[in-house]
Amino acid sequence: MNAERRFVGPIDLHTHSRVSDGTETPGELIRAAHAAGLGTVALTDHDSTTGWSEASAAAREVAITLIPGMEFSTRQGYASVHLLAYLFDPTDAGIIGETARIREARHTRAEAMVARIGADYALTWDDVLAQTTPGTTIGRPHIADALVARGVVPTRSDAFEGILHWRAGYYQPHYAPDPLHAVQLVRAAGGVPVLAHPATRGVGDLMDEARLAELVEAGLFGLELDHRENKPEAKARLAVLAARHGLFVTGSSDYHGAGKPNRLGENTTAPEVLDAIIAQGAGSAPIFA
Ligand code: AMP
Ligand code: FE
Ligand code: FE
Ligand code: ZN
Repeated sequence: MNAERRFVGPIDLHTHSRVSDGTETPGELIRAAHAAGLGTVALTDHDSTTGWSEASAAAREVAITLIPGMEFSTRQGYASVHLLAYLFDPTDAGIIGETARIREARHTRAEAMVARIGADYALTWDDVLAQTTPGTTIGRPHIADALVARGVVPTRSDAFEGILHWRAGYYQPHYAPDPLHAVQLVRAAGGVPVLAHPATRGVGDLMDEARLAELVEAGLFGLELDHRENKPEAKARLAVLAARHGLFVTGSSDYHGAGKPNRLGENTTAPEVLDAIIAQGAGSAPIFA
């Protein structure tokens, strides 16, 4: 495959299914992407590739291009940093070992948070498990959904703004690798790493530029520039950083089904950038429409 391929329709490179904290099965998500008029979609569940096979089958059925991906949880000091990874080998031992460790840590951390919340609100661990399917990468969204099911809060977003916010006192972090280690693991598995929503914490709290340079040195491909959590001022700053470090920029929705207001295709990636991702991705193949 070379850069001559023409992609038909909008390209959205960041979505979540029920395998992590989206609300649709991978198949439903792919059909929703097709119905929304997308030409290419990447499935990027948190710390898991479990959805890839179902998504691939659905993509073949509806004839949409699928980029298999994942959103890798990493941690830089106190900050949670998300790294999108595309077209890596899902059987790579480094990826399997690290993601298993993260999922286990997420599970333990969610149980601890629920024990604390359960002391003050009607919430049990079984309520949270009822919001998951076997193998789900558990996160605060599932605790949020359980609080909604219990009638404690009206929506998932309300839970995030209240009980699940670190200010409320129930928050607990979980183990996640250093972003540099994650970039190295993704490249070693033939994948293409992109820093997700780099300005989620605001323009004043962007990753230190020397740190970013280290990630670039290790093989970081790009920055997710067009994302609703990057505000205009931050975007301008990110565009400068991308140009200075020779990074590509992507755009995507970070769709979570009914779990977040983000809509499929609300931000998109340029076809030339997808060409470059495909040219560099050596661990697994896209499903072409
Ligand atoms: P955690 O990783 O467990 O700390 O939870 C943070 C995750 O919640 C991020 O991946 C967010 O994308 C996700 N999330 C899902 N739905 C929402 C929502 N409605 N508001 C805020 N975050 C959300
Ligand atoms: Fe999420
Ligand atoms: Fe994220
Ligand atoms: Zn995401």
